[in-house]
Amino acid sequence: MAKRRPVIITCAITGAIHTPSMSPHLPATSDAIVASAVAAGRAGATILHLHARDDETGKPDQSVEGFANIVPAIRAQTDAILNLTTGGSPYMSVAERVRPAAHFAPELASLNMGSMNMGLFPMLARHPELGGWEKQHLEGSRDLVFRNSYQDIAHVLDACRDNGTRFEFECYDTSHLYNLAHFADQGAVEPPFFVQTVFGLLGGIGAHPDDIAHMRRTAVRLFGDDLVWSALGAGAHQMRVAATVAAAGGHVRVGLEDSLWAGPGQLATSNADQVRMATSLIEGLGGLVSSADEARALLKLQTQKAFA
Ligand SMILES: [Zn+2]
Repeated sequence: MAKRRPVIITCAITGAIHTPSMSPHLPATSDAIVASAVAAGRAGATILHLHARDDETGKPDQSVEGFANIVPAIRAQTDAILNLTTGGSPYMSVAERVRPAAHFAPELASLNMGSMNMGLFPMLARHPELGGWEKQHLEGSRDLVFRNSYQDIAHVLDACRDNGTRFEFECYDTSHLYNLAHFADQGAVEPPFFVQTVFGLLGGIGAHPDDIAHMRRTAVRLFGDDLVWSALGAGAHQMRVAATVAAAGGHVRVGLEDSLWAGPGQLATSNADQVRMATSLIEGLGGLVSSADEARALLKLQTQKAFA
């Protein structure tokens, strides 16, 4: 009998793109992030991708202290794989961005594979009511380069190397796949390569099925059997990209970091909701959701160091 393919669901809990006033359901305090992550894990998420926020303002917070308010509490309540961001916010330096991953030695950390424009300002049209830091966060992106130079990428690899942390390589365009191939050629990263292709964010590749096919084809050509391919679609593209990628043999990422929506004009009420929607897609296509231990074996994650 043919076996069902295990599909990894990564759930990105809060991120650093959306701001608290955009949705009452975006977890924007430590307690809310912990509760939302634990619930997403219970709903079946294989991997939880984490950012922290300032408890007072809801602003992205890349301090070790900020992550100390969420990481041990989530770790204690779920067996899901924890993935700490090194992307942080596009306004932060790489030295600042890598600190939580270097400190907490997670099984996985994200790693952005190239510099790019990152246009968050189109969201202002939908949220004209925003003020203060939230408005500035979007307005400022008109003149923002999200810097991920070769030196920056090497800095993250060096800072995490001794911890045994492995990576979710975030690739927002074709050139980022070639950057990963460069680091692979240098022996700076070890296979298998967990490649998170990102579709539909202004500044990166679009979310047309041709874009998805092109990124997949290129990644398969560059990495062959060493590729573990996952993808996310930004905003309204989220579930369509998830369905396309799951049908094409990939893994999926959902979560309120990537989209606040559950359907046209309908806010998602939780991260767990989006995990359940992705689960329905995967099971409808004849797959099943990967357990954390299946994913640990597939991605060759190393034994977890004790969390501080
Ligand atoms: Zn992130």
